[in-house]
Amino acid sequence: MNRDRIFLSLAHMGGQEQKFIKEAFDTNWVVPLGPNVDAFEKALEAFVGENRHVVALSAGTAAIHLGMVMAGVEAGDEVICQSFTFSASANPILYQGATPVFVDSEESTWNMSPELLEKAILDRKAETGKYPKAIVPVHLYGMPSKLDEILAIAGKYGITVIEDAAEAIGSEYKGRKCGTFGKYGALSFNGNKMITTSGGGALVCGTAEEAQRIKFFATQARENRPYYYHEHIGYNYRMSNICAGIGRGQMEVLDAHIARRREIHALYTSLLADTDGIEVKQNPSKDFDSNFWLTCITVDPEKTGTTADEIRLHLESENIESRLLWRPMHMQPIFEKYPFYGDGTSERIFNVGLCLPSGSLLTDGQIGDVAEEIKRCCKR
Ligand SMILES: *Cc1c(COP(=O)(O)O)cnc(C)c1O
Repeated sequence: MNRDRIFLSLAHMGGQEQKFIKEAFDTNWVVPLGPNVDAFEKALEAFVGENRHVVALSAGTAAIHLGMVMAGVEAGDEVICQSFTFSASANPILYQGATPVFVDSEESTWNMSPELLEKAILDRKAETGKYPKAIVPVHLYGMPSKLDEILAIAGKYGITVIEDAAEAIGSEYKGRKCGTFGKYGALSFNGNKMITTSGGGALVCGTAEEAQRIKFFATQARENRPYYYHEHIGYNYRMSNICAGIGRGQMEVLDAHIARRREIHALYTSLLADTDGIEVKQNPSKDFDSNFWLTCITVDPEKTGTTADEIRLHLESENIESRLLWRPMHMQPIFEKYPFYGDGTSERIFNVGLCLPSGSLLTDGQIGDVAEEIKRCCKR
């Protein structure tokens, strides 16, 4: 077996990144703010639209954390979080000393179930006497969650929504970009995301005042006095001008990267269409337009005679990287003691799902090879 390794999702440079980094060096802006940061934020604002403001930060996790800070989440509060996600959606709840309450997914999007969300809100109110402080829906693998329903429920009980759009830059729900629906929306530019700044993130918000406040918390919460004076806990979460240079270059190819990921998803869909028992996850309706950051399949063991993990191991033996789905948070040792409202949906999907190589650098030939090897596992 001498195939070059096929990776799940690799960084993919556009070409202009080094020019912006060189500018930063030439002008000695090698600090956590500067012209690249400003320009990257402007480009992100133009991209997400809706007159939203964007603050560039050191990580997507930092963005979610500052969303919590802005929402006023503190010790003694509860925060509802989608269980089917990466741990970075939930960790910032604990950074604030608050208690996570996990809510299960529904089948059509794999994201937060609106029914279980409302059940959780009412049950927490009955048990603790107060409503949860915030809700964190996630757009898993790029698929928008059921935003109309979730926002309606959040509005009904006056609860702040912090969208985790770390995997969903460019995804659209009813024609509007993910990350712009909640009071706050978190984006990630980690190495394997749709675009990268080597590591980084951003928080989307509604007003210039909020953006100012987020920058204040992200730069150590220093009050406007001639000496260092602090009335709040601060963080060192601002994006560096070097990383933002990479981000500026990546913005020039963002649309192309999204288009290529969607093309790869369409290619897998057609290549695996006649394989009984393998389903490629699709947009549930025209309202949902995933960026298909990662193409995911589910494997029916009865029909295929194999499992998601057996396929993963076979692909690995062929030098192809794939990954099981995120193991839900209510099934994680660190989180299993917290309240969970579920009906088994995310656990069931977790048990049969697999993420396929989906990076925008992959060729049609490589996608064909992956599909071929998956078919080879079925009914051998
Ligand atoms: C990547 C990711 C994050 C965290 O982003 P970082 O930039 O890696 O800190 C948060 N939530 C989800 C769902 C993610 O996939």
